[in-house]
Amino acid sequence: MKNLIFKNIKICSLLLILFCFISCGGSDDSSSTDTIDTDTNIDDNTDTDDDTAVSTSINISSAFGGALYIDNQYANMSLPLDIELTPGTHMLALGVEGDNQGYYRKEITVQDGVGQDIEFTLDDLATPRTWRVLWLSFGSGQAPGGCETNISQNFIDIAFNNFMQGIESIERNAFNSIQWDIERMDLISESVTTISFTSVPDPNDWTINVNEQPNGIVDFLENTKGMDLTEYDLISIYWPSFSVNGSCSYPTRYGGLAREIRRNDHSIGIIEAPFFTQNGSPVHPDPYTYVHEWLHTVELFYPNHGITLPVGIDGRAAHTNPQTYGFDDVVGLYGAMFRGNIFPIDGTTDFLGMGPEGLWAFNLEDLSRTSSSSPKIIVDLK
Ligand SMILES: [Zn+2]
Repeated sequence: MKNLIFKNIKICSLLLILFCFISCGGSDDSSSTDTIDTDTNIDDNTDTDDDTAVSTSINISSAFGGALYIDNQYANMSLPLDIELTPGTHMLALGVEGDNQGYYRKEITVQDGVGQDIEFTLDDLATPRTWRVLWLSFGSGQAPGGCETNISQNFIDIAFNNFMQGIESIERNAFNSIQWDIERMDLISESVTTISFTSVPDPNDWTINVNEQPNGIVDFLENTKGMDLTEYDLISIYWPSFSVNGSCSYPTRYGGLAREIRRNDHSIGIIEAPFFTQNGSPVHPDPYTYVHEWLHTVELFYPNHGITLPVGIDGRAAHTNPQTYGFDDVVGLYGAMFRGNIFPIDGTTDFLGMGPEGLWAFNLEDLSRTSSSSPKIIVDLK
């Protein structure tokens, strides 16, 4: 199931888009186009009307509506629909909201000149792909020989709730083609080692010791706690860079960081979003900081699998300017990325985004087997 057919879709989707422009004038409310002689049915092969030139008309319908994807490309067409498909296998999929919400998939084989009626039913519902998360919080932070920051359980709960809001927006926009399996670990009585951030030339920038040095978090989890980190696609770490009462601080210039570690030839994404204060007011990581940092851990792997994401000037999908693609903000842009329906603006025909199929076909472990991401750390300034 992981063998996507993205390679095959170029010509097919070009035809589909041209077809839509010609037949429905660019609107997406068309239906039942091109209904020339569809009586040739694969289940009723009694058509003797051989003198009528009929190619391969496929009727696609669904009792519960939905957004149609053909060969993993958003089709921008409404159901029911009659459409010509080239001979061979095609993956049809539906993203459905409402009572029957979910991601539905159906592989069909088209034979030259043989029409078919394809109806999506509840049996076509795909089991969501699981993405595994370790959500980790520390109750305090301390540099060697330095002061100790502290935070309350209440603030940790706020951060966790914001994290959940963020990643649930990915599930929802992807029509629940994925589900997050979350393990939460609040180490309220543990102190994380805070270190000067050497990769940015600013002595007042601090992060936590994530990497594999002694007393680093990876070392702590693997060697002190005995955990197998290969079981996670994402590790999200929350720590206090400021004490709420202002008695101790390790200032950061960034709102979030994303990193990669490799285990067993695949990547594990690590994101860090600390608590800090600005002008004396508490600043909690917001839901889209979490989505943004998570995107950094996955974005570079999609092109290896034939999936095109929009990118910003630094080549990073998370840094795409929403206005470039007609969105007011990143909330709209990211949602469309997860739906795979960002309209191409460069004259190509493929919609952009990983879409529900891209999220369903690969979790990070599957996405990242072939290559590492680079650079190893992404710094998002406040
Ligand atoms: Zn960023």
